[in-house]
Amino acid sequence: MTLEEYHRLTPLPHPQGVVYVKPGARGYPDPVYDLLARAVEPFGRRALDLNPGVGWGSLPLEGRMEVERLETSKAALLALKKSGLKARRALPWEAEEEAYDLALLALPAGRGSRYTHLSLLAAARALRMGGRLYLAGDKNKGFERYFKEAQALLGYGLLLKREGPVRVALLEKEKKAPPLGEVWSVFTEGVQGTAFRFHHLPGVFSAGHLDPATLLLLESLEEVRGLEVLDLGAGYGGLTLPLAHRGARVAAVEDDWASLLSLQRSLEENGLVAEVFHSDVDEGLPKEARYDIVVTNPPFHVGGSVLLDVAQAFVHAAHARLRPGGRFYLVANPFLKYEPLLEALFGHWEVLRQDRYKVLFAVRR
Ligand code: SAH
Repeated sequence: MTLEEYHRLTPLPHPQGVVYVKPGARGYPDPVYDLLARAVEPFGRRALDLNPGVGWGSLPLEGRMEVERLETSKAALLALKKSGLKARRALPWEAEEEAYDLALLALPAGRGSRYTHLSLLAAARALRMGGRLYLAGDKNKGFERYFKEAQALLGYGLLLKREGPVRVALLEKEKKAPPLGEVWSVFTEGVQGTAFRFHHLPGVFSAGHLDPATLLLLESLEEVRGLEVLDLGAGYGGLTLPLAHRGARVAAVEDDWASLLSLQRSLEENGLVAEVFHSDVDEGLPKEARYDIVVTNPPFHVGGSVLLDVAQAFVHAAHARLRPGGRFYLVANPFLKYEPLLEALFGHWEVLRQDRYKVLFAVRR
């Protein structure tokens, strides 16, 4: 898939209209969202979708009640906008309180139990008394446990639909929701003799400690002082902060809003500066922006085709955004085969380090 193909939005006909989808955006094709869409019925006046992705799950409510969507992924937000669906960039727990008759939550399975717990709490807080929550998920990804947790927070609930491992439940809010509490975490980690305090929200990559692959990449870099460096998929700044500290002028792109807020806070608290872009791969960067170095610890998930698309788009973007002579550093699991793509785009590649992870290196000619 070329970079142009990655960024293309594709219209999908749907009985309720047209939904645009794109690589890297959650929610289609996805059996959880699909079963949710087949279960939802309007109730009251205002609905809130707390994990909309491209908007498939709440689409049947469109035109029958007011539907608001809170989304964190730039890729998904681009698709929602193109579809003309009402959505804003926000974390689930930023929803207006006791304001909604209906809430929808496709369990954010990949984001860990803390983020999922806070999403459930957010749903409970956003609903008015007597309001309803549709909860959708996969029994192999904790649905039963989260359904119990939702019942403890809200009250009465019943399983509406099951199809294979996918489940949809409906709950009613019968009691006041507990307070939100502290959502931020912080940890300190030394990188080559300098201590950094990383602040982060739940659901970010490598919460609570730096990823060993990130550290390996940092050890493999040459002098960066004064150079323009692009960090693709910056997370809370595991690469960005040490690079900024070493005197690089870093541009950091990140698709996930929770990660991006974490990065901004971490930069501030460490007295460091970088340019930060909420961006689906390189889409949010100025068109003409070019860099001396591109670094990335790309997202991956065994068997997750969505993420493989993204990781490959990272490599394409690195090539497209480097100046001639510019250097590309990528760290990955040894079993992930980036080499053929590097060969095709850069014409060569090298393994700089090989440990539990490998650091691949290529120069743009
Ligand atoms: N550089 C950080 C994080 C690496 S994990 C570190 O080393 O600690 C990969 C990051 O890529 C995640 O934060 C993930 O949210 C982000 N990401 C995933 N899809 C993306 C996309 N389409 N565009 C930009 N960033 C993306």
